Amino acid sequence: MADRVFAVLGDIHANIDALERVLEDCRAQGVTDYLCTGDVVGYNARPHECLQKIRELNCPVVMGNHDHYVSSRQNLADFNPHAAAVIEWTRKQLSVEEIMYLRNLPFSKTSMGITLVHSTMDNPEGFGYVFDHLQAEAHFVHQVTPLCFHGHTHCPMIYEKQMGAVYRIDAQDFKLPVGRKYFINVGSVGQPRDGDPRSAYVIYSPKERMVRFRRLEYDVAAAQKKVLEAGLPPRLAERLALGQ
Ligand code: ZN
Repeated sequence: MADRVFAVLGDIHANIDALERVLEDCRAQGVTDYLCTGDVVGYNARPHECLQKIRELNCPVVMGNHDHYVSSRQNLADFNPHAAAVIEWTRKQLSVEEIMYLRNLPFSKTSMGITLVHSTMDNPEGFGYVFDHLQAEAHFVHQVTPLCFHGHTHCPMIYEKQMGAVYRIDAQDFKLPVGRKYFINVGSVGQPRDGDPRSAYVIYSPKERMVRFRRLEYDVAAAQKKVLEAGLPPRLAERLALGQ
């Protein structure tokens, strides 16, 4: 455990251009182990390729809401039409075996003392959003390990619990003090929404107790082209350049 270097990545959302750039950076950073916070598919145009890459990593993966919608028989009538169109399209791109793989993903997982969940541990199947420390409080009641990684908002962030109080800390390279709990949002590989279009993921080194937030430029134009060529809503291509 001490010599491991973890890459924690999620919200890839079928963006293969971003994912390949991130995996290249992981190799350069000496990553030994991968953890995935879910939402491998949805929004962008390469769900099959992204699933293949993630499965090749042979790592723990948890269920994101898009993984869930694509692989369940969920009625999409209540969805906004753009989201529903992409989910329908994605279902057609994947094999039955791939749909079954997604359907069987766990909603949360603890591996080597680290918890992974797409949204929150108080209701992993509810896919609630955490944007502030108050929303993180309910989660912390159910976080039994010192460290938990999540995604879902596509905005990197640190939540800290110490002496019963919960704090929100802006994403920054951070040495984890002993005796506190951390709930860390790793941001999004394939559709960042914090105003910065660069791909986001986290490197965690247990030996140094360091969490590092990585941001990487990738070929946004190539990803946009794939979205448009697939006939997906143009807004999904536009937002990649804006980081929204
Ligand atoms: Zn997502």
